[in-house]
Amino acid sequence: MKKYTKNPNSKQNLITQSSQYYTMDPIPQAAYDHRLTMKEEDYLEAILNVSLTKGYAKSRDVASELDVGPSSVGEMFAKLDKKGLVVYRKYEGVTLTEPGRIIAEQVKFRHDVLVEFLEMVGVPGDIANKDACFMEHELSTVTIQKIREFVAAKKQK
Ligand code: MN
Repeated sequence: MKKYTKNPNSKQNLITQSSQYYTMDPIPQAAYDHRLTMKEEDYLEAILNVSLTKGYAKSRDVASELDVGPSSVGEMFAKLDKKGLVVYRKYEGVTLTEPGRIIAEQVKFRHDVLVEFLEMVGVPGDIANKDACFMEHELSTVTIQKIREFVAAKKQK
């Protein structure tokens, strides 16, 4: 059941529906605490995606997900480990910490909303996927919410 409600604690209209994602925007505190670059956010998202399909994330899997070389992956894993967002063990790969997972899920939520929207307006899948990866880092919370509402309303028709 899709339903729109006004959150009394927020100036924004938040969409509530039977989705695991409905609470994922506004941006979680963890994202402010860690102030990540776009690249760092992309890595967290890729680690989450690989973990969801494989149950774990090894360097080579994340490297192929992001289409980068293994040495840059190792470097970034060490950096994210230092920030407390992943636990990196050289031969075992990485696991997301709690704040790392919260940020990764937020980026993935934004990605999925944006892909759905772009495809809805006729952007081909591969381009929608690529463009969502830029937009997901920069758009404001209210824009993401409004796009989410638009997509949900369109799907109801
Ligand atoms: Mn992305």
